[in-house]
Amino acid sequence: MSEQNYNRRDFIKMAGAAALAAGGTALIGGCSKEAKTSARGGTMDLPSGEMSYRTAKNGDKISLLGFGMMRLPTKDSKSARETDGEIDQEMVNSLVDEAIKYGVNYFDTSPAYCKGRSEEALGIALKKHPRDKYFVATKLSNFAESTWSREESIKIYENSFKKLGVDVIDYMLLHGIGMGEDGMKVFNSRYIDNGILDFLFKEREAGRIRNLGFSYHGDIAVFDHALSMDIDWDFVQIQLNYVDWKHAKEVNTRNTNAEYLYGELEKRHIPAIIMEPLLGGRLARLDNRRALNKLKAANQEMSPAAWAMRYAGHFPGILTVLSGMTFREHLRENLGTYSPHKPLSPAELTLLEDVAQIMLAYDTIPCNTCQYCMPCPYGLDIPAIFVHFNKCVNEERYITDKGDPAYKKARREFLIGYNRKVPKLRQADHCIACNKCSPHCPQRINIPEEMRKIDRFAEMLKRDQNG
Ligand code: SF4
Ligand code: SF4
Repeated sequence: MSEQNYNRRDFIKMAGAAALAAGGTALIGGCSKEAKTSARGGTMDLPSGEMSYRTAKNGDKISLLGFGMMRLPTKDSKSARETDGEIDQEMVNSLVDEAIKYGVNYFDTSPAYCKGRSEEALGIALKKHPRDKYFVATKLSNFAESTWSREESIKIYENSFKKLGVDVIDYMLLHGIGMGEDGMKVFNSRYIDNGILDFLFKEREAGRIRNLGFSYHGDIAVFDHALSMDIDWDFVQIQLNYVDWKHAKEVNTRNTNAEYLYGELEKRHIPAIIMEPLLGGRLARLDNRRALNKLKAANQEMSPAAWAMRYAGHFPGILTVLSGMTFREHLRENLGTYSPHKPLSPAELTLLEDVAQIMLAYDTIPCNTCQYCMPCPYGLDIPAIFVHFNKCVNEERYITDKGDPAYKKARREFLIGYNRKVPKLRQADHCIACNKCSPHCPQRINIPEEMRKIDRFAEMLKRDQNG
């Protein structure tokens, strides 16, 4: 019987037994460099001049580690994706300096990132560096219907040059094609009917854009359609990690496996740029203890993030892997992992597939905390609710059976953690199912349905006074 045929509970048990059987013995060796350089937050010697590079269609040599500018640090040490706090520009400058010093040359931003503040912050940080030391990527992020006209879209485009302080954009993307309830209709409205795609081609011919591509989330018909058009795409940005490679569809039936996406690009010799290598941070946090034990049994030193980053850079058609690095330890760890990148052995690939299987046995919500669904007009903190719920599922604290010996403890921990992590007025019981959020979710999560599920569970626990 294949692993896929076991029910979830059986598989959890078996995975646990296998991890215990490994008993901390290294299953897979040969990772000494990564082990030395990847301990999260530890001090380490950064390797200089060893960054791995890949070659773009036009010959650009791109660092395999790309700096995603969607989670810039704020002065109160948070990520500007989640808060309105002032961006810590000095820290951004310092991170960019360090990244460039150790060979990173690809910086990816968007007018939409960090609540509209990312492009400018990146422009300031790059100003002191020679223009031939970096490639800048940004996007035509005309998500709002009010920006679908040609004039408004061109305004967004022109504004990117001003904010970034550049005359040429190296990599320009149509942003998030496939998103929305009717992905094809939205794609046509944002880029085709208004003539914006033709406009961008002319800009490429004129040399103001050096490479033109798109990032994709959501409706696979739009991805297939874009590739079937008579267009010479220079690159395409896709979501790829060791869970999504074969299981994106199991996580969410509306998603598409990265194996298919990458395969379609490879057939056409279109380089892939990778986003979500850590599945919105879930592969770095790895709340799932069984999955974590399995990785630790294989290599005590290598962090879950380093495993996931090695996987994301594994395939040869990948140009760069974007990581949103808010804190210096994230940058340093990734520099260590990619200086140079070491491809995975067949045994290591099997190990990561086993870890993905363990994770899939737990019924978590595929939220990557991107915040695109926010703000909720009724004040819910959608990603925080999902993060708390997923953590409980992964730690086997989502128990509905009152007869389960672990129920009492799990109940207490779920409720205490819920109130601690999500203010009461922002919890799932305030959802009125208006569905203003779901159309913005690149993971295509049915948010009101998940809120109902979580609220029902929380209410059941609250009502159980004997728990
Ligand atoms: S469906 Fe619920 S979570 Fe979504 S926007 Fe409406 S109230 Fe907020
Ligand atoms: S629910 Fe969707 S849009 Fe909202 S944070 Fe999660 S993944 Fe992003």
